[in-house]
Amino acid sequence: KPRVRFAPSPTGYLHIGGARTALFNYLYARRYGGTFILRIEDTDQERSTPESVKAILDGLNWLGLDWDEGPGKEGGFGPYFQTQRLDTYRAHADQLISEGKAFRCYCTREEIAARREVADKEKRAYRYEGTCYDLKAPPEGRKLEDAVIRFRMPTGDGKVSYDDKVLGVITKPYSDLDDWVMMRADGIPLYNYGCVIDDHLMEISLVARGQEHINSTFPQLMLYQALGWTPPQFAHLPLILGPDREKLSKRKHPEADVMLHARTGILPEGLLNFVIRLGWSHGNDEVISREQMVEWFDFDGVGSTSGVWDPVKLKWFNQEWLKRLPAAVIAERLLPFLDARGFEARGDARLEPMVVALRERSQTLEEMANTASVYFRSGVTLDEKAAAKHLTGDSLGLLRQARERLEALPAWTVELLDGVVKAVSEAAGVGMGKVAQPLRVAITGNTTSPGIGETLLFAGREEALRRIDAALA
Ligand code: GLU
Repeated sequence: KPRVRFAPSPTGYLHIGGARTALFNYLYARRYGGTFILRIEDTDQERSTPESVKAILDGLNWLGLDWDEGPGKEGGFGPYFQTQRLDTYRAHADQLISEGKAFRCYCTREEIAARREVADKEKRAYRYEGTCYDLKAPPEGRKLEDAVIRFRMPTGDGKVSYDDKVLGVITKPYSDLDDWVMMRADGIPLYNYGCVIDDHLMEISLVARGQEHINSTFPQLMLYQALGWTPPQFAHLPLILGPDREKLSKRKHPEADVMLHARTGILPEGLLNFVIRLGWSHGNDEVISREQMVEWFDFDGVGSTSGVWDPVKLKWFNQEWLKRLPAAVIAERLLPFLDARGFEARGDARLEPMVVALRERSQTLEEMANTASVYFRSGVTLDEKAAAKHLTGDSLGLLRQARERLEALPAWTVELLDGVVKAVSEAAGVGMGKVAQPLRVAITGNTTSPGIGETLLFAGREEALRRIDAALA
């Protein structure tokens, strides 16, 4: 049974790349009855914040990507925050030092920077020169507490190689790798170090993460080797590019923020469907339910070419899900959007039929709420052109006749309302549109709306009659 993880650094909101990584891991765990672990890599103490942790959990919850172990879900492999695991990192580092596979390095940041500068000038890649390899005690003027811990990279012409589930076999010669820093002097592990210790102790069987981590995989593999541990499998996911074909980034692309989409009326179903298609495919299938995702997902469907953000496609997926989900569910999700526009619509019987009618012409909850607003407001602003065309001459006579019959209706149902339009048009010997359009303009202010019966129903009896009167006045 696979154990997989999503290991975000809480330095900002949950972004689309992170959401995709989480989704793929989640689906893989669900498909094979495994475990999905959420581990918070909060070792960058300057940039990690509790607000970001919350934002990430909120984003995952909104998407419905629930984790089996992690914050709030103890699973026997915790703690799940790296800053609560410092003793563990320390213990393994001490062991590696005693085995000669890591060493304390007393070189200062300034010294390293100066040597790096020399290397840059000489146009060669900087490599740690082994200054502290054989020190048994701190050199003159340095203290034990000042030492960082470096991995001691084996020398010679060995190679490190692994079989990526997405990219195939990748190999790097030892000579490309450095004596990298595992732990800072204050005992905080650096990413590659904490990641390996945790992935092993949490018994992670497969690591799926963004392609920006490929180069980290090699030092990580060297560490597994040094510790005598079997590494997990790896799957590196293709990049996601923004609409401008630059790497999707928080800095340049506001759409990278998962919760921005929640605020603008994208459904989690729509966003997930869009996100899964950024780098994974299953034949020609486009609209894919959560159940199908779980049934079909595997890393062989992950491509190696970058996915490009397409806002049109996102809205298309979203409308597909607006149409597919039960109207009651959409109605519930529409409520906060109506609320934001000043309309308290909970319990309103018009809401569900309104959703059914409006989702044919809305791509987001925001658009739906904007269109729906016309029925919740009191009064309406008439579009000048529409009024000039449909609220003049004979049209006004037809509108007056319709009003009389509407007022006399025993009940306000779509059938009866449509019946009124039919009766008036038959009596006058004109097409139904000649009656429906003036009504439509009187009720909604313009010429596009759902069927006329529904339009009248949504406005409600009193409000509809009042708007017709206003149009006739
Ligand atoms: N904390 C790393 C990140 O957010 C995790 C990378 C990994 O999955 O190993 O990029």
